[in-house]
Amino acid sequence: MSPKRKKLVAIVAGVLLAGSPVAAFNLWLNGLVERQGQEEVDLSVQRTIALAESRIIRVMATLDGLAERGVDSCRPVNLEAMRQATFATISVKEISIVAADGRTLCTEFGAPFDQRKLVSSEKVAEGSNVLLELLQVGERPGNMVRIRRPGLGSANGLAALIPFELFVAQVSTQGGPLSAYARVATRQGAVIGESGPPEAKSSGDHLVASLTSPRYGLNVTMSLPRASVVADQLDLRMVGLVITVAIAAVLIGFLAAFGFLLPKRERDNPIAEIERALQAGEFIPYYQPIVDIRSGRLRGAEVLVRWRKPDGTIVPPASFIPLAESSGLIIDLTRALMRRVCAEAGATFGCRQHLKIGFNLTARHFSDEEIVGDVRAIFGRSPIRLSQVVLEVTERQPLDNLTETRRVVAALQGLGVQIAIDDVGTGHSGLSYMLKLGVDIIKIDKMFVDSIGTDRNSNTIIETLIDLAQNMRMEVIAEGVEHFEQVVHLRELGIRAAQGYVFSPPLPGSAFLQLVEAIDPLKTPVESAGAAEQPELPLSRFAS
Ligand code: C2E
Ligand code: CA
Ligand code: CA
Repeated sequence: MSPKRKKLVAIVAGVLLAGSPVAAFNLWLNGLVERQGQEEVDLSVQRTIALAESRIIRVMATLDGLAERGVDSCRPVNLEAMRQATFATISVKEISIVAADGRTLCTEFGAPFDQRKLVSSEKVAEGSNVLLELLQVGERPGNMVRIRRPGLGSANGLAALIPFELFVAQVSTQGGPLSAYARVATRQGAVIGESGPPEAKSSGDHLVASLTSPRYGLNVTMSLPRASVVADQLDLRMVGLVITVAIAAVLIGFLAAFGFLLPKRERDNPIAEIERALQAGEFIPYYQPIVDIRSGRLRGAEVLVRWRKPDGTIVPPASFIPLAESSGLIIDLTRALMRRVCAEAGATFGCRQHLKIGFNLTARHFSDEEIVGDVRAIFGRSPIRLSQVVLEVTERQPLDNLTETRRVVAALQGLGVQIAIDDVGTGHSGLSYMLKLGVDIIKIDKMFVDSIGTDRNSNTIIETLIDLAQNMRMEVIAEGVEHFEQVVHLRELGIRAAQGYVFSPPLPGSAFLQLVEAIDPLKTPVESAGAAEQPELPLSRFAS
C-alpha cells in the first residue's frame, strides 16, 4: 500500500474506532452522574469526620504537651511556649490560659483584646475531662471551636481555638471547591458551624449523607443539589467529546506512524524511553520493611521504585529518578507507582491497619495541590486507608515555595496522611524545614546512623534531633541500619523505628507480601474477638 493510501485508511479507521465510544459513553454517563454525586457526598462526609477528629486529636496532644511542661499561667516563658505550640500545630489559631470558670486570662500574645462569649460547653468524649466549647470571638462571624483542658481543682487550664472552616473538607473529591452544604454538630447537638453555598442547603431535590464520628460523636451532614450534579454532567459531556477527539487523533497518529516512523529515535532519547517504560508498566515497587526496634514488630514499609527492563534487568532509582524529576515525568511515575502498590499490596495492608506504607515525593510534588487530588483519588478507592499512607519529602533538595509547600502539607495531613522529612541531617535547612512544615515524622539519614558511637558530634546532633522531635511530637525513623550494635545504640537513644539491611533490603512485591503474611499473620476469628482490648497503635492518628 502506498504511504498516502495508508494514511487515508488510518484516518478512516481512527474516526470509526473513536466514534463508536461516543454513544456508549453517553449511555454510561447518565448512570455514572447519579452514582458519582452520591459518592461525592458520602466521601466528603467521611473526609470531614476524619479531618475534624484528627484536628481535635492533634490539638489535645499539643495541650497535653504544654500541660506536661507546667504551662499554667501568663508568665512570659509560658507565653513563649504557647507561641511555639501555636506555630507548630497547623489547626490552632490561638492558645490561651483559662481560669477554672472558663474566662480567658491571656492568649499566647498576652491579654485577649476581643470580647468572647461562651455559646456551649460539653465533654469532648464520654468520661473525658477535656471540653469542646463553642465561642463567639469578637466580631468574627460564626463560632470558633475551643478545646479546653481544665487544670486540677481551681488551677488554671489551657485551651486552643480552632476555626470551624478547618473542620470541613474544603475541596471536592474531584479537586475543585466543594459545592455541597455542610453542617457539623457536637455530640450533644450544638451546631458548630455550617458552610457551603446557601442554595445547596435549601432548594429542591438533594443528594444527602450524614455520619457520626466514632470517637467524639460529631455529626456531619452534607447535601448537594441534584441540579448542580447535572450541571457537572455538561462538563463531563464536553470531556467526553474532547476525549473522543483525542482518541481519534491518537489513533490516527498511531496508525499513520505504524510501520514506518518511530522506534529508532525513541531509543536514543532517554526521556522518551522513560515515557515508554511508564506506558509499559516497567516501573515497579520494591518494599523495604520498617521495624519497631522495641517490640521487633513490623511497622510498615517504604516503597522504593525499580525499573524492570523487558530483558529482566533491574535498574536502581539513582539511574532514572533525576531525569524523571527534571523532565516532570516523576508526577506520572509516582502516580503509577501508588496505583501499582494499591493493586498489589492493597489487600495485605487493608486488613492490617497498623501497618504504614511510605512513598517518596519530590520538591515538585509540593509546588501545587495536584498531589492532594491524586492521593485522595488513588487511596480513596483502595483498601489501604489514607491514615496508613506516609509521604516522604527529602531535605536534600530545597523547596522553593515554603508557603505553598506548607499549604500542600496541611492539605495532605487533612486527608489523614502523614508527612515525613527524609534524609534529615544531610540538607542545609533541616531544622527550619521541620519547624515550618509541621511534619509528622523525621527520617535520620544513614550518614548519622553510621557514625553513632564513634563520632561525638554526630551523637549530639542526633540527640538534639530526637529532643526536638519529642517536643514537637514527631516520630523518628533511623535509616540505613546495617549492624545489630547500631540497633542497640538507637534503642538507647530512644529511637523506636528503623529500616536497613540488618533487617531486610528492599524486597520485590511477592517476597515482601510473603514476609508480612509470615511475621504479621492475621488473627483467627477467636483471637480477634478480644481485639478491642488492644492498645491503639502509636502511629495511627485517628480512628477510621
Ligand atoms: P531513600 O529514600 O533515602 O531510600 C533509601 C535508600 O537506601 C534506598 O536506596 C535503599 O535501598 C537504601 N538502603 C536501605 N537500607 C540500607 C542499608 O542498610 N544500607 C545501605 N547502604 N543502603 C540502604 P534505593 O532504593 O537505591 O533508592 C535511592 C533513592 O532513590 C531513595 O533514597 C530515594 O531518594 C530515591 N527513590 C527511590 N524510589 C523513589 C520514588 O518512587 N520516587 C522518588 N521521587 N524517589 C525515589
Ligand atoms: Ca525515602
Ligand atoms: Ca532517606
